[in-house]
Amino acid sequence: MTDSVKYLLDEQALPKTWYNINADLPEPLPPVLHPGTKQPITPDDLAMIFPRAVIEQEMSQIREIEIPEPVREVYRQWRPSPLHRARRLEKALDTPAKIYYKYEGVSPAGSHKPNTAIPQAFYNKQEGVKRITTETGAGQWGSALAFSGAFFGLEIVVYMVKVSFQQKPYRRAFMETFGATCIASPSDTTESGRAILEGRPDSTGSLGIAISEAVEMAARRDDTKYALGSVLNHVLLHQTVIGLEAQRQMEMAGDYPDMVIGCTGGGSNFAGIAFPFLGERLREGRKVDFIAVEPSACPTLTKGKFAYDFGDTAHLTPLVKMYTLGSGFVPPGFHAGGLRYHGMAPQISHLTHLGYIDPRSYNQLECFAAGVQFAKAEGILPAPEANHAVKAAIHEAEKCRESGEAKTILFNLCGHGHFDMQAYMDYMGGKLKDLEYAEGEVAMALAGLPSVP
Ligand SMILES: *Cc1c(COP(=O)(O)O)cnc(C)c1O
Repeated sequence: MTDSVKYLLDEQALPKTWYNINADLPEPLPPVLHPGTKQPITPDDLAMIFPRAVIEQEMSQIREIEIPEPVREVYRQWRPSPLHRARRLEKALDTPAKIYYKYEGVSPAGSHKPNTAIPQAFYNKQEGVKRITTETGAGQWGSALAFSGAFFGLEIVVYMVKVSFQQKPYRRAFMETFGATCIASPSDTTESGRAILEGRPDSTGSLGIAISEAVEMAARRDDTKYALGSVLNHVLLHQTVIGLEAQRQMEMAGDYPDMVIGCTGGGSNFAGIAFPFLGERLREGRKVDFIAVEPSACPTLTKGKFAYDFGDTAHLTPLVKMYTLGSGFVPPGFHAGGLRYHGMAPQISHLTHLGYIDPRSYNQLECFAAGVQFAKAEGILPAPEANHAVKAAIHEAEKCRESGEAKTILFNLCGHGHFDMQAYMDYMGGKLKDLEYAEGEVAMALAGLPSVP
């Protein structure tokens, strides 16, 4: 990409290192436990499903970790992503607040996911891996890994949550265009999938189930590894490229945020924009608030329990301490598929537990209303997931209108909604309902939490 006209300008803002928040945590993360022995896991325990370089990053305490040059070269195609001031939205809201948003929809897959798909594909290729299995909810992560596989010459197999597989045929076609294989989950290709189908033949699937299937397939073959699109430390690390760029861009704009907002499914895009700023708060005491926004129908941070739990439904993954609704919880089929996960990134859970992050939830109708308002003002149609961040930003700007405070709001517009038009059609046709999360089902799933001494 060095021949790109964008190159010279971009080189100043594109970071050379990612930011590892483990180096600045006020208390270390609780250890990750082996599901059998319940002892802290070792790098060897993970070697069956992840490449060495990724495992090293997962456990690293080093603050700045180099972005390999081949990864930066691919990043340059769309990075630095733009930071916009939402002036027309501010005007429409008649607010004294300043609203900035970082737009990740300019990536080839249309979201922030390639920020980690590219390095994960790079490290796997470097270590001689031939095939990567993964899961995808809304299809964003599968799309990102599919094109990353095409770039680095890897075969990609994607287990796609069934409800999204049915709702979003174009996402599947997108992945297949890059040569990836896409399988609706639960499927009959794995033991985990067959076990679910036996109990619930009409299961619409969940990220927890799809993860089980992908991990099982990777564990079965030596030339195959697994890649996760969110939750884990190394994924959040790769996403910090968003916030590091935003810091430089805000500085160019002569501003600094009073609050940073992102939506949270597994927590990666929120961490991506928030952690570099949160690091400044932890190291230098800078005053800045962090708001993590989730759907009321899958309220992990606001209604879940902070406890050790499995990352998947079949209990193949290690135990991590996180906010969870229970690994057996299957969220209702609302349209922000990327936010339908029972758990939350351990780093985000930990920092929320310590009081550094304020979680909140909104219903899907108010989020779509905010997304439509944003689209009319700014000309960008957000992904249904991103609408949660948009809603919170608008809500905060409206509070400023009441109080007269001129706060500076920064939020992550983590993806566009061009593959989500069915959801917008349903919304405009009056077919969308606010879905309640099933309290009874959560209670049952939480009762099944593993006991950890
Ligand atoms: C995957 C995805 C999410 C949810 O995942 P996080 O790890 O919480 O970021 C949110 N928005 C979009 C557009 C996504 O693709």
